[in-house]
Amino acid sequence: MQPVELIEAQDKAKKSNREFVAIYHSHTFTQGYPSKTDISNAVAVANISTRQVIVSLVEKTRPVVRAFAINGKSEVIELIIETDGDTYRASD
Ligand SMILES: [Zn+2]
Repeated sequence: MQPVELIEAQDKAKKSNREFVAIYHSHTFTQGYPSKTDISNAVAVANISTRQVIVSLVEKTRPVVRAFAINGKSEVIELIIETDGDTYRASD
């Protein structure tokens, strides 16, 4: 999504009384941790959402989803994702 599209989506969300839970993207060939570019992009859109979700597809049979809070000072804090489904364990 381009920055202009993101701003348009934010406007639409505001008009319908909604807010962004997070912004997500995938890493096809790397682990699910924010790159320097990701952090820079996250800082640029921190007014829309400070939460970023990254899906890593580096392990082809086990996608890994991680979430981070990235604030306007480029500080990265990993967030815990809670689900109501079963926990997946690779060694089971
Ligand atoms: Zn990324």
